[in-house]
Amino acid sequence: MAQSLVLSSNFCSNFSSRKGEEKWLWCSKSKKSPSHLRLSSCSSVKVTASYNANPQATDIPRQWYNLIADLPIKPPPPLHPKTFEPVKPEDLSPLFPDELIKQEATNDRFIDIPEEVIDIYKLWRPTPLIRAKRLEKLLNTPARIYYKYEGGSPAGSHKANTSVPQVWYNAQEGVKNLVTETGAGQWGSALAFASSLFGLNCEVWQVRASYDQKPYRKLMMQTWGAKVHPSPSDVTQAGRKILQMDPSSPGSLGIAISEAVEVAATHADTKYCLGSVLNHVLLHQSVIGEECIKQMEAIGETPDLIIGCTGGGSNFAGLTFPFIREKLNGKINPRIQAVEPTACPSLTKGVYAYDFGDTAGMTPLMKMHTLGHDFIPDPIHAGGLRYHGMAPLISHVYELGYMEAVAIPQTECFQGAIQFARSEGLIPAPEPTHAIAATIREALRCRETGESKVILMAMCGHGHFDLPSYEKYLQGSMVDLSFSEDKIQASLAKIPQLAS
Ligand SMILES: *Cc1c(COP(=O)(O)O)cnc(C)c1O
Repeated sequence: MAQSLVLSSNFCSNFSSRKGEEKWLWCSKSKKSPSHLRLSSCSSVKVTASYNANPQATDIPRQWYNLIADLPIKPPPPLHPKTFEPVKPEDLSPLFPDELIKQEATNDRFIDIPEEVIDIYKLWRPTPLIRAKRLEKLLNTPARIYYKYEGGSPAGSHKANTSVPQVWYNAQEGVKNLVTETGAGQWGSALAFASSLFGLNCEVWQVRASYDQKPYRKLMMQTWGAKVHPSPSDVTQAGRKILQMDPSSPGSLGIAISEAVEVAATHADTKYCLGSVLNHVLLHQSVIGEECIKQMEAIGETPDLIIGCTGGGSNFAGLTFPFIREKLNGKINPRIQAVEPTACPSLTKGVYAYDFGDTAGMTPLMKMHTLGHDFIPDPIHAGGLRYHGMAPLISHVYELGYMEAVAIPQTECFQGAIQFARSEGLIPAPEPTHAIAATIREALRCRETGESKVILMAMCGHGHFDLPSYEKYLQGSMVDLSFSEDKIQASLAKIPQLAS
C-alpha cells in the first residue's frame, strides 16, 4: 500500500523541482488520484500511481542529524599520524574546506541544509519507502518488510546525498579542483555528477580491478566531465611505489585513497572528498533516516529490526542513526543490524584500534574496527563493501552496544538478490544484497515462529552497472571465499602500536 504513495510523490517532486521547469505543477501535496502533471508548453504526463497515505510524510528534511550530540560517551578523536595528538582543524585544511572540517568535529545536534543543496536533493528526494509485499509472499512470511530506496538519484545510489553538499561547500570556499578515490565506481560517479552541477574539475582514482571490470561506471564519470585514473597509477608516488612491488596489483580502496590524498595535499588549489567513513558524510546521509521516520509514522508502522549493509558505513548510518536517537529517547526499541561480507568483515572479525584510513599511512589515525590498513580483499569477491575499516562513529556505537553486526557470504547474498529481483522487480547493487540476505534470514525465522515483525531495510542503490556480478552468479561460477585467518593476521600485525 505504501508503495504507490511514496513512488508517485517522488516522481512528482522530481518533475516539479528542476530549475527552469516551474511549469510543472507541484503535485506531491495533492491527494487527488490519479493526478496529472502538466507542461505548459504541450504534453501532459499522467501519473497512474495513487496516493494512499499522508503526503506530508514525504517532505525533504531541512536539517541533517548528528548522533554524536545524543551519545552518553563521545567517540575517541582522530589522531595526527606523527604526533599522536588529536587532530586540529588546521591539520585537515589542506584536504577539506572549513565548513566540512567544522561538521566533522561538531557536537551540534542539527545542522541546517543549505537551500541550494535542498533544491538539488529535490531531483530525487524524498525517496520512496516501499513495502516488499511480493517478497513477503514469496517467502511466505508473516513479517512485514519495508525498504527505503536510494537508487533513484542520478548516480544510482545514496552517495549523491553527500557528494552534492561536499561539492557545494567546496564551491562556496572557491575551490576549483576535487580529487577522490572510488571502488565500485559509485562514489566517483556521485562526485562527478555533483561537480558537474557546480562547474568544478573532478579527478578520480578508480581501483584497478573495478576500472577494468566496470567500464560503464568509468564512462558515467567521463560523461559528467571527470578524469579517471586506474589505481594504482603512475601519476602519484604512492601509486608508483605499489606498482614497483606488484605491477599487476588489482588495487584497493586504501591505495586509491593514498593517491587522491597525495594529490590534494601537494596542490594548493585542490581538495579531497571522501564518500563514506567520516562524520560529515554520515551526517549528510541522515536525510535518509529522517525522511523514513516520518514515512513509517504516516503509515502507522514501527520497525522491530532495521538492517543495512556496511562498507564504510554511510548508508547504514544514514538510515539508522535517526532511529537510534528515537531508541535512546525511549520511543522505540528496534534491533539495529549491520551486514558485511565474509570477505571483508571489519566489524565482526577486525580489531577496534587506531589505524590509518589509507594504505600508505597518510591519513589521520582513526579509532575503528579495522582489518589493517593494507588488507586487500580478494578480487573474486563481487559484492562491493571492500574497505578495510569501519566508520569510527559506527565502530563507537557498536562498542556502546546500540547495534549488532553479522557477516554473510556472497553466494547467499546473490541468491537473495535474485529472489528480490524476481519478486520486487528491482535489481539491487551488490552491496545491498547483504541487507537483503539478512532480511530474508529474519523473515524465514518469522515464518518459523509466526511473528509478524516489521523489518526495515536500507536499499541503497541499483545494480544496473554491476551485472557482471550477476552473470557470475547466474553461470554458477561465483564461489564463497573462506575467511583467511593468515591474511588478516598479517595485516593486523601492521596496525600502528599506540600506548593506550
Ligand atoms: C558505496 C556504496 C556502499 C558502501 O558504502 P557505505 O558507506 O557503507 O554505505 C553500499 N551500497 C552502495 C549502493 C554504494 O554505492
